[in-house]
This record gives sequence, C-alpha cells and structure tokens, in this order.
Amino acid sequence: MKLNESITGRTRLLGLLGNPVEHSVSPQLHNTLNTLLGIDAVYIPLKVEKGKLGDMVAGLKAGNFTGFNVTIPFKEDILRYADHMTDEVRLVGSANTVRNTGGVLFAFNTDSDGFFRAFEEETGSGFQGKNVTILGAGGTARSLAAKAASKGAYRLNIINRTRRKAEDIASMIRSSYDLVCETEEFANKLALAKIMKESDIIINATSLGLYPDIQESPLDDDIRFNSEQIFYDVIYNPVKTRFLQQAERFGCKTVGGLGMLFYQGILAYEIWMDVKIPDSILKELYAEFSKYLCR
Ligand code: NDP
Repeated sequence: MKLNESITGRTRLLGLLGNPVEHSVSPQLHNTLNTLLGIDAVYIPLKVEKGKLGDMVAGLKAGNFTGFNVTIPFKEDILRYADHMTDEVRLVGSANTVRNTGGVLFAFNTDSDGFFRAFEEETGSGFQGKNVTILGAGGTARSLAAKAASKGAYRLNIINRTRRKAEDIASMIRSSYDLVCETEEFANKLALAKIMKESDIIINATSLGLYPDIQESPLDDDIRFNSEQIFYDVIYNPVKTRFLQQAERFGCKTVGGLGMLFYQGILAYEIWMDVKIPDSILKELYAEFSKYLCR
C-alpha cells in the first residue's frame, strides 16, 4: 500500500460553483493542467443549493481558495460578491471566473474571451468590419454580442424567439458601442432570410440542438447560405449539431463549441495561477480533451 500524498496543507484550492455540477468536465481539464504544469493545486466541483451562494463564497474566502469558476445558475448572482470586475463583466452582468487575492474577489468572463480565441484560431477570421448575426438572447448570446462589438463588428443582428430579450441586448450594445444593432424574431421568416443572406458570421447561441434534442436547429432547412459565410455553434455536445450540418451543405466554414469550452477553462486557469500556458501543452491537451468529450 502507498499513501496518497497528492493533497497536502500547501495544495492550492480551486472550485466550480453551480447546480448541477455532476456533468462538468472542468475538473478533468483543470486537474490535468495541474499535473502537466507541476502546480500543486486541486479543482473540485461544489454543488450550491439555491440561496446558499453567499455562504459558499464566504467559505471559499475563509478557506483561502485561489479562485473558482461559476456556472448555471449563478453567473449573474456572483457579481453581488465581487469586489472588482472587468468592464465587460460590468456591462454584460455575468461572470464565470473569480480570482481571490487575500480575500478580495475579482470577477472575469472567460466564456466570451474563450469564444473569441477559439473563433480566431479555428476560422482564421476576426469580427473587424463584419456583419454578425447572433441567434439567441440568453446569457451566452449577451456576452458574445458584447465581444463581437468590442472586436469591431460593423453590424450586429440579434435573433430570438422572445424579441424583448433580444431588444435588451441591443440596448446594451447601442449604449456602449458605435455600431448598428438590430433585432428580429425567428417567427418572421422573410426578415430572417434577408438577415441570413447579408451576414458574414452566424452564431448559434441558443440551446437548440443540444443533446439529447439533436434533431433541433434554430434555422429551417429551406434557408440558403453561401460558402463565404462562417457558422459557429456554441453547443459542444454533439460536436456537429444539426445547425452546422445545415451550413455544411452549402460549403460554409463551420465550427462547434468545443474550442470555446476549452479556452474558457485555459484562460481561467491562467488568471488564477498567473501563468501563460505554452502552445505545445495546449495542443496536446486539446487533443486529449476532445477525445475525452467525444468518447
Ligand atoms: P439561456 O437559457 O440563457 O438562453 C437560451 C437561449 O436559447 C435563449 O435565447 C432561448 O430563447 C433560446 N431557446 C431555448 N429553447 C428554445 C426553443 N425551443 N425555441 C427557440 N429558442 C429557444 O442559455 P445560455 O445562454 O446559458 O446557453 C446557451 C447555449 O450555450 C447552451 O446550449 C449552452 O450549452 C451553450 N454554452 C456553451 C459554452 C461553451 O463553452 N461552448 C459556454 C456556455 C454556454 P428565449 O429567450 O425565447 O427563451
């Protein structure tokens, strides 16, 4: 028998606050990073019951956690406990990463940064001067809209089932960025077809097509695309959603949400540990991570 010595009183603590947390793959990603980088730290999922977020955050501060991720349903509520936040977090109103420096909490949103890094890497394109359409108006759509605007999109279209939520995002964008931002609802097929035709980049930020409802898509099959358009789906399970398959039929470039998931984690880790993870490690880890998710 050999004693397990992997965790000691010096081990740095990282966590994930959410509910549910059972299916998260963040522990596999972060604990593998600890091993690869030789950093004495451990990342644990912490299921937080409704109304207990404040208690949990106080506990993590008292326990000197280095940092933590925040997922559904606490991405907005966590801001109440943050001492500082990035301008983007303040604008968008949600965070997924918190760093604890001596009891002072700093909130970040690495979902949108992770999305942008993955988007650039996988498409070779940015948002400068682009006509960008975002399908959906939930929390993810909100942070991606702000990211696209901050990266120079010239026009943003927000399409949602519930128009009011799309309008909310558009008001936020118009108040902070100098670009055209319009909204539409999926039910208006004629207007939707025109917007799709004129878009350079189309992002699915709805949950339509997410496992197990893999036959769903935010778009009808009869919409036509052109091969110059880029399609991005934030969903990573399945890897190839129906939405991406619809675009592939027209020879468009398509990218799924796996890279976004990977990079939001990488960027969070870099913030907590104040390190820059070498590209060689990222490449190898991404290959393993994708294999793990597609198993
Ligand atoms: P929200 O619940 O905040 O938003 C869901 C969105 O989907 C809303 O716009 C909602 O429209 C729309 N929607 C849901 N069901 C339907 C339907 N039946 N018909 C039409 N529209 C519908 O979710 P999030 O923004 O948090 O997450 C969105 C997606 O992003 C999820 O699939 C999630 O897995 C993924 N995600 C991926 C990440 C990654 O790292 N790759 C990170 C974070 C999220 P309405 O407003 O009308 O209800």
